[in-house]
Amino acid sequence: MAEFIGALDQGTTSTRFMVFDHAGSVVAVDQREHRQIFPEAGWVEHDPMEIWSLTTSVIEGCLTAAGLKRNDLVSVGITNQRETTVVWDVKTGLPVANAIVWQDTRTSDICDGLVSDGGIDRFRPKTGLPIATYFSGPKVRWLLDHHGLGDRAERGELLFGTMDTWLAWNLTGGSHVTDTTNASRSLLMDLVTGTWDADLAMTLGVPTAMLPTIVDSIGPIGICTGPLDGVPLSAMLGDQHAAMVGQVCFEPGEAKNTYGTGNFMLMNTGTSPVVSDAGLITTVAYTRSGEDPVYALEGSVAVSGSLVQWLRDNLGLIGSASEIEALASSVADNGDVYFVPAFSGLFAPHWRSDARGTIVGLTRFTNKGHIARSALEATAYQTSDVLDAMTTDSGVRLTELRVDGGMTVNSLLMQFQADLLGADVVKPRIAETTALGAAYAAGLSVGFWKSTDELRQLWVEDRRWSPTMDDDTRLTLLGRWHAAVEKSFGWV
Ligand code: ADP
Repeated sequence: MAEFIGALDQGTTSTRFMVFDHAGSVVAVDQREHRQIFPEAGWVEHDPMEIWSLTTSVIEGCLTAAGLKRNDLVSVGITNQRETTVVWDVKTGLPVANAIVWQDTRTSDICDGLVSDGGIDRFRPKTGLPIATYFSGPKVRWLLDHHGLGDRAERGELLFGTMDTWLAWNLTGGSHVTDTTNASRSLLMDLVTGTWDADLAMTLGVPTAMLPTIVDSIGPIGICTGPLDGVPLSAMLGDQHAAMVGQVCFEPGEAKNTYGTGNFMLMNTGTSPVVSDAGLITTVAYTRSGEDPVYALEGSVAVSGSLVQWLRDNLGLIGSASEIEALASSVADNGDVYFVPAFSGLFAPHWRSDARGTIVGLTRFTNKGHIARSALEATAYQTSDVLDAMTTDSGVRLTELRVDGGMTVNSLLMQFQADLLGADVVKPRIAETTALGAAYAAGLSVGFWKSTDELRQLWVEDRRWSPTMDDDTRLTLLGRWHAAVEKSFGWV
């Protein structure tokens, strides 16, 4: 008898398939990294065929490790890195080019053109988003322009999708669908109606013929073929939205912060979208068939964990990500060094595409421990700025922050985060909240879990960090950080 739920988590650096049981515990996991392709400065690509191939192997690897068959899965959910854009041929199913990843800044000319004709916030009332290279709509336009494919797209010969769409298409044998959370990251979707907006599509130069059908995040969506033949695909949602579900942020005012490649704080704002005055974006938290949409405010930070990877891969300062904690702990403090990792400009709350990475405060005293420490601290400072914006927009001051993601294993960082926020930082027992959220969503859809209240019972605290820093120190550090951020502006 089927008694498990599958979650396919297609992230920025890797793809994993996980199986969960009814208690929300991990039964098995298989995970594979894919290549990061950097053809030019500011460009980041992934190979969609590589990702699809890894998807099939992690599904098979996970089921084999667990000793399970496909029909042991009641249903499956997909969660994905958001905004990363694929365009493929409807007949052959082959991508026309590599996927353009969310961090990629090649669309800055397209975005600048849109901004010069009405300002950075011209689409915000309808989409909840500022104009930025981050979002998928301008990436589609770039692919069509660059490869001369506009006419083919108009004729319906090419399809657009984010990774959810690409994987659903391949897993179901040809359903062209995306969910409301992923669609809400395109600059093409009307946040209130949850439908594509023809005027926006025209302005961005994206033919509506190539857009997928928008479905609810918590399905039903379709039936899989291939490696999951016969298993219902019951949920699709962007990784940060899935993490919200995994952290059971179902009530207005509940928030989580995920520390992965980038950092993403989302706060549930209930069934009406709150338009931000403080530099956050408004996004769909999730939608469920037959219910009102649930919205969120989001503070997105482009570079956090990827800065640790950069220290490892580009500078060779550490041999593995986990070594950064010891190196950063080799010094008593940051030695007045601040690292603003504006590699893709700065996202929330600044939205400055003209900013670039900056290290300030270097002296002969500075050593690699200070650089490592300033790199780690950058994640906490950026999170503090986002939380301030969240408080301004929502009027809710969080008393504690639920956290997850790869960087939360770093205790030095988590303690510094609690110090800087003046609030507790708490981590759940299941740190894989993104995959868990996709599983929860898929399970809710088919009645495997009966209600969000039932899921709430499954959230168990693992670790808590409480602030110990005095206010003077905190304010001094934040003041120095803000001065450093100013220095990163206007480089491009
Ligand atoms: P994603 O889902 O975005 O691919 P993960 O949640 O798997 O990311 O987190 C991976 C990130 O965490 C990487 O960018 C890596 O550099 C960072 N990371 C891993 N271990 C540590 C550590 N001990 N200290 C700081 N950062 C770490």
